Parts: sequence; C-alpha cells; structure tokens
Amino acid sequence: MPVPPQPGEESTDPRRRIPRTDHLLALPAVAAASAAMSEHVVRDVVRAAQGRARSGQIAPEQVQDEILTALGDRPAASLRPVLNATGVLVHTNLGRAPLSPSAREALQDAAGYTDVEFDLATGARSRRGAGARAALLAACPEAEDALVVNNGAAALLLATTALAGTGEVVLSRGEMIEIGAGFRLPDLITSTGAQLREVGTTNRTHLADYTGALGPGTGCVLRIHTSNFRVVGFTSEVPLADLAPPCRATGAPLIADLGSGLLRPEPLLPEEPDAATALRDGTDVVIASGDKLLGGPQAGILLGRSEIIARLARHPLARAVRADKLTLAALEATLTGPVPPVLDALRRDPETLRERTAQLADRLGGRLVPHEGRVGGGGGAGVPLPGWAIALDNELAAPLRTGEPAVVATVRDGECLLDLRCLPADEDERLARAVATAREHLGRDPR
Ligand SMILES: *Cc1c(COP(=O)(O)O)cnc(C)c1O
Repeated sequence: MPVPPQPGEESTDPRRRIPRTDHLLALPAVAAASAAMSEHVVRDVVRAAQGRARSGQIAPEQVQDEILTALGDRPAASLRPVLNATGVLVHTNLGRAPLSPSAREALQDAAGYTDVEFDLATGARSRRGAGARAALLAACPEAEDALVVNNGAAALLLATTALAGTGEVVLSRGEMIEIGAGFRLPDLITSTGAQLREVGTTNRTHLADYTGALGPGTGCVLRIHTSNFRVVGFTSEVPLADLAPPCRATGAPLIADLGSGLLRPEPLLPEEPDAATALRDGTDVVIASGDKLLGGPQAGILLGRSEIIARLARHPLARAVRADKLTLAALEATLTGPVPPVLDALRRDPETLRERTAQLADRLGGRLVPHEGRVGGGGGAGVPLPGWAIALDNELAAPLRTGEPAVVATVRDGECLLDLRCLPADEDERLARAVATAREHLGRDPR
C-alpha cells in the first residue's frame, strides 16, 4: 500500500524511501536468490520486508538485505529436522520412525519418473509396488500375499469394508480403542456401513462370546491389539490360535490389527504381537503400520491368505487408500536394508548408553540421571526401557526447541532431560553444539 502523501511531508517521511516491489524484484541479486522459488513466495517475502520497513521495524535501506537473507534461509518446506532427545522411539508428534539411510536413498531414487507400475523389459504395465510386496513376503514367509496401503487406519478400513460389507464385525468390548487425537477405531469401522457386534466385557472376553456371535450375519471377526494401554488384574482374552478354528469353520475371516509393525517376535517386547506368529496361529489377515516398530515410512501393511488379500486389492476402496511410490520405495529399502534406527534405539546396550550419556553430561556440565525410554505410539504400552539422561537447567528447553538443529527434550521436576537413546552416537556432537547455542541465547556461559 503506498503511503498517501501528506502536505509538507513528502521529503521527510522515511516510508517514502521504501523501494517498490517491481524495483526489488528486478534486482539481479533478488532474481538470483529466488530462481528456485515460486513467484508468489518471492512476492510474499518482498511484501513482508516492505511491511517491516513501513512499520518502522527496519530502515528502508535495509529492505533489500532483509529480502536476500529471507530468500537465502528459506527451506524448501516448513518441516524442520528435529533431534529427538525424549527417549520415546515412536513419537507421533515427531513423525514416528526415522528412516534408515538406505530408505532415504530409495526415496531420492524414486522421486522422479520411476517404473512403479511398468515393466521395463516388456514395456507393459506391471503390478504396482511389486518390489515392496516381494520384500514383505521375504521378511514374513508365513504370509501368502501382501498389500500396502496408505496407513494402518486405511488398512483396517479396507479390510473390514471389503470383508464385512454391511454385515457384522465381531469385536471384543475390551478392544474398542481410541488411538489418539479422539480417533476411535469402532467409529472408523462403522463409517462405511458395517455393523459392530460387541462381545464380552471390558476386562474379560471368552471363546464362547465369539462363537455365540458367529452366524449368518457375520462379516468378519476382528482382533485389535490394545497397543496404547494395558488392562491388568482380572482379565482374559482369547488366543488367536483358539479363535481361528471356529472362524474357519463358519467361513468368517479373522482379522488381527497388530498396530506395532513387528513382523517377528521381539525378545525385548515379549507382550507385543507379531505378524508371523499371528499368521501361524491361523489369522487370515494381519494389519500393521509401516512407521512404528517396523521402522519405515507411513504405510498400512496387510499380510495374509492370498484369497483374502486378492479380495481386498479388488475392492474399490483399495484405490482410494493406495500407497505412493515414495512409500513403496522406502518400505522396500527398510525391509531389505540394515536394522532400522527405531530397532537400533530399542536394542541399545544399556552400559554403552550409560557411558555415552555420562561422557556428554560431563562435557555439558549436566547431571547423569536414570531415565526410562518408551516405545511410544507404536506399542509396548507400559514397558519401560531403562536408560539415562543428562539433566540440565529447564530454561534450556525452549531455546533448544527453536534452535538449529531443533532439539526436543523432556521437562520434568524443573529439569530439562536429554535422553540419547533415539539419537545415533554420531549426533552427540550436534546435540552438544545445540546446547551451547541455547545457553548463549540465554546469555549464559556456553559450557
Ligand atoms: C497405530 C495403530 C493403528 C493406526 O495405524 P496408523 O498407521 O497410525 O494409521 C491402528 N490400530 C492399532 C492397534 C494401532 O496401534
């Protein structure tokens, strides 16, 4: 907005010296800095700088430098990398599983045109995501076939819709769960017209509860792993191995939503169900997330009998929840590559973790304190992961979050706790520098 000239003010109001937009855009330095940016983004940056000059925050002569700095610092997207110093392995707010270097490389390779649905040898169309499917079947030979969709919730929606239609989904009252942010799985299941047939009670459900509900109206039987809480005390649930025979006998497909993404048993998490065991126990199709303990990208993984997977793949909803080429690439690379970062973090040797934390605590002038890590959104509810943290002044938490790199710590009992479990050892140096910068920001001695 040009400032209207006031009588006698033309030469004295500094705002009249603010350079005009077309003048700024034509400057060679601005044009060069904005080459990789869309025009409307550059215009917004220019307008913001002019606005700051207009309101007196900067001098009109500083507008050009302000624009060049803003364009130079501007990342391609607003998502910022974070050092996860919380000790929570699968932190939904921090993007769940970090990808392995091989998965990151696969993302790069798949980013352009790629043969995701094309056979380069014959020139004909091919099955989408054949590589990810083959990697899943190699990692879980108990499955006859596999299908990858957008996420775990999409997999559950597809399985119950395709197998139950408007029939009944038999589900224990102990498994009617909310998975976060007010998101309730029973609501998801009934959203496409299926009926819930609740059986048992909150704490105890018996085989007879299920067999009593099986009948002509049954669409499928669903088991949901209660991944984010535990019911203890007078409880009982039916093992999948006991539930499978009556389901098979009545022709009702048995679905198990495992959540965590474990394909095989994990000795450190004995309570966590895994796909191989569930399939061996007779489950027709298991559902898991790709970005929890599997350690890959966001994805919904369906593993099971080929006839059932084929029914799911044919359903119209399958197209609406299909996985992106980037997901398929990263998932395949996660499955065929080295142990992913999430499992590395889970399996850290306690003694090595203690030594590493003690060393950094010493260097930063913090205290070494015991600290329990957690699996987090991915499962292992109530299972503590004994570890260590560096206790620092809690005033550091805020500047650490807004620093570069951003560091997310835990604030507890007036202290800022840094847990190294989720960080590879080669990040300790960056973390130390981030703490020094945060202290400088507070006007403290960096040590
Ligand atoms: C996490 C989870 C889901 C949802 O999976 P998303 O991949 O987050 O969509 C569904 N069921 C269970 C048991 C879960 O733990």
